[in-house]
Amino acid sequence: LQQVASVGPEIAASVVKELEAQRSHLKLIASENYCSLPTQAAMGNLLTDKYAEGYPAHRYYGGCDNIDDIETVACEEAKALFGAEHAYVQPHSGADANMVAYWAILSAKIEAPVLESLGETNLSNLTDAQWADLRIKLGNQRLLGLDYYSGGHLTHGYRQNVSARMFEAHSYTVSKETGLLDYDAIEKQAMELKPLILLAGYSAYPRAINFRRFKEIADKCGAVLMVDMAHFAGLVAGKVFTGDEDPVKWADVVTTTTHKTLRGPRGALVLCKAPFADYVNKGCPLVLGGPLPHMMAAKAIAFKEARTASYQEYAAKVRSNARALAAELVKLGMTLQTGGTDNHLMLINVAGFGLTGRQAEAAMSECGITLNRNSLPFDPNGAWWTSGLRIGTPAVTTLGMGEAEMKEIARIIALVLKNAKPGLTDKGAVSKGKVVVAPSAIAEAQSAVNAL
Ligand code: PLP
Repeated sequence: LQQVASVGPEIAASVVKELEAQRSHLKLIASENYCSLPTQAAMGNLLTDKYAEGYPAHRYYGGCDNIDDIETVACEEAKALFGAEHAYVQPHSGADANMVAYWAILSAKIEAPVLESLGETNLSNLTDAQWADLRIKLGNQRLLGLDYYSGGHLTHGYRQNVSARMFEAHSYTVSKETGLLDYDAIEKQAMELKPLILLAGYSAYPRAINFRRFKEIADKCGAVLMVDMAHFAGLVAGKVFTGDEDPVKWADVVTTTTHKTLRGPRGALVLCKAPFADYVNKGCPLVLGGPLPHMMAAKAIAFKEARTASYQEYAAKVRSNARALAAELVKLGMTLQTGGTDNHLMLINVAGFGLTGRQAEAAMSECGITLNRNSLPFDPNGAWWTSGLRIGTPAVTTLGMGEAEMKEIARIIALVLKNAKPGLTDKGAVSKGKVVVAPSAIAEAQSAVNAL
């Protein structure tokens, strides 16, 4: 940090302030964690100076021998960790990984057969008419993924994201009655739509998924099964989700971030079955810029860490902590989406407290708890104000917290929500964003957070 301060003292100061903020606030954001110092050291070094477009032993730059070694180790570690046939560790983020996956599937299933029918192997040799025809075919494909309001991610075909513009995007929802995935309804929809890609995975769904059932549906409707396990990859790596709940076993292509439950550096990877490997490897230059060698090194370290018995214990504890926290919240009168959790996250419906998710989020922040608001399925408050709070246990579990602390966290959350009420706008109307928390509750919650 002294080196940073010698050039950018304000940057160094912000790093220190962020450290203070992370230490003084309870991190309940379901998609965040604390990666290890070895992981941080692997990403903060001279490796950033190297260009390495392409993939190991197939680069567009010279002098890539060491980067080849690093990327190869990261891929092998990822394959061993997840039991995958192939791994690609270059994506800079989960959104990038999904783009790589989409285009690998489009290349394998749409482009390759067209090239074969034309007796060509090189796109550059297509005539303008053939090229125009191929582009229309690529643009005419269907994606069927989980609706954003049911817990899907923006990149799963939400209109604000490019995924809804490159595909004819459709979505399935959770059941209105139970809040759960309804596999029979998904099957019916998939059979009607016959999408190229059936996509499973989520940002905010508190239950396990039956991927064997998803694979059956995909096979029946002729779709490629893609799973985005960005949120729960750590539970797959840590063998909490096995058998029917293991997406790597069932899906053709799996994407994940590396920085959520997986507890690695910020970044992502793609895993796939062998027939998709050559297409996934073309992620750079197809949709990605040059890989980040320092980040691939950090991913390799994190994958090695995740292959230990202590990581498996951690993953199991992430879930048992989530269950303990959910049970206590329910005991204290909270309404949870689906009534509880099977994974690392849960969603509290705060409408019963007369609050929007945004107000509840602000109230928590004032009391030393960092979490995020989240829309609930069929949320009348939409994606901005929302009616929910999303809470996760990956970070607090990394800090070594257990069941006793989960009970205390539930108590603090209940204390804050029960003592918060909507604030007023400057014109005196009730505001959907402003919140007022009783000062005594703030003081009590802050000191309880500090004591944890
Ligand atoms: N996929 C899912 C399911 C996610 O929850 C997220 C991020 O929250 C992403 C993809 C995108 O990851 P990133 O922010 O690294 O692009």
